[in-house]
Amino acid sequence: MTARRSPWMTEDLDQLRSLARTFFAKEAVPHQERWAERKQVDREFWTKAGELGLLCLSVPEEYGGGGGTFAHEAVLLEEQARSGDSAWGGSVHNGIVAHYLLAYGSEEQKHEWLPKLASGEHVGAIAMSEPGAGSDLQGITTRARRDGDGYVLSGSKTFISNGAQADLVIVAAKTDPEKGAAGISLLVVEAARAEGFRRGRVLDKLGLKGQDTSELFFDDVRLPASALLGGEGQGFVQLMRQLPQERLVIAVSSVAGIEAALELTLDYVKQRSAFGRELIKFQNTRFTLAECATEARVARAFVDECVGLHLRGELDVPTAAMAKWWSTERLCRVVDECVQLFGGYGYMTEYPIARAWADARVQKIYGGTNEIMKEIIARSL
Ligand SMILES: Cc1cc2nc3c(=O)[nH]c(=O)nc-3n(C[C@H](O)[C@H](O)[C@H](O)COP(=O)(O)OP(=O)(O)OC[C@H]3O[C@@H](n4cnc5c(N)ncnc54)[C@H](O)[C@@H]3O)c2cc1C
Repeated sequence: MTARRSPWMTEDLDQLRSLARTFFAKEAVPHQERWAERKQVDREFWTKAGELGLLCLSVPEEYGGGGGTFAHEAVLLEEQARSGDSAWGGSVHNGIVAHYLLAYGSEEQKHEWLPKLASGEHVGAIAMSEPGAGSDLQGITTRARRDGDGYVLSGSKTFISNGAQADLVIVAAKTDPEKGAAGISLLVVEAARAEGFRRGRVLDKLGLKGQDTSELFFDDVRLPASALLGGEGQGFVQLMRQLPQERLVIAVSSVAGIEAALELTLDYVKQRSAFGRELIKFQNTRFTLAECATEARVARAFVDECVGLHLRGELDVPTAAMAKWWSTERLCRVVDECVQLFGGYGYMTEYPIARAWADARVQKIYGGTNEIMKEIIARSL
């Protein structure tokens, strides 16, 4: 056994795990190749997830959610990673977009949007990054100009997960360009009602082939005052407050990804032979896997601790940054070792380990690059 039961697991979560496992095996795994060609999942996948109650698991029931906690989200993330599906952008929709609405939306906004996200009627995206600004969000140039009692939004965003399918996009824009970070606000764009909103290319990526990552354009999009999330100029602080959860989402997926890679590789080295014996019998294979299994155990222990802290509302920004950089670095290292043990087959994209290798790389880049994680940690020392 490579994976251990997390201390935060409960019987209720076991049932959810079993439901999620069956769901990904039946509804996601068989479609990976087709989704990779289309560069996006089927739209119905979202509504199927919604029908089973697998969307917005940690949103209160009064807003249509599952009434669970972050532990419920973690189980879903783990099962997706273990299934080998890297196409569905559920982590952004559930773990990020819904929680921005929950944390900063008015009662009216929450009742309007959260039930639609929970049913899959709406797909959610969050648009911060721009062609000229990623790590340095203060440098964004998308502008939301006051116009009567509403706003006019202009600018462009890139690398937006779920961008091609999104019905609801939370956009970071400058409402007061003179004020730097204090001039950033968050506005909710409903795609169907936003004249001047355009989607650009669904981008070609090294990995996450089936995941929709897109360019978005806002050409003088007129928005009502009710599009503003929280107060004007609050955007930067709002983003910072959500960062621990966003980073924990990546860390949880990464640990599950490490464990999945290890299991795939253990199976392989037990059945593949060279020089008259199974690969597992070579000391190099055994030592490599011993190291990987140890790294998996250490990563799980730390990320489990972070999940526990987050469930108690005690996960701070530097600790979440530690979890993000550490787990994603380990993921890339372990998956790379695993590819080596598969030999040439490890380089063939029909083998899940090859896809896992390509999918892993971005984890060190998005959600704040690992260099930015180290900056955050260093500042806290
Ligand atoms: C598949 C994918 C999905 C994504 N999804 C989303 C999404 O849904 N929404 C969204 O808003 N964005 C999304 N992003 C964007 C992602 O968050 C950014 O790519 C990331 O934050 C880095 O920004 P950048 O690409 O502009 O790189 P840059 O900021 O230009 O960084 C380039 C390099 O410089 C380094 N660097 C920058 N500043 C410093 C510093 N102060 N100290 C040390 N090194 C530094 C970086 O670490 C990096 O190595 C996604 C990206 C990808 C690839």
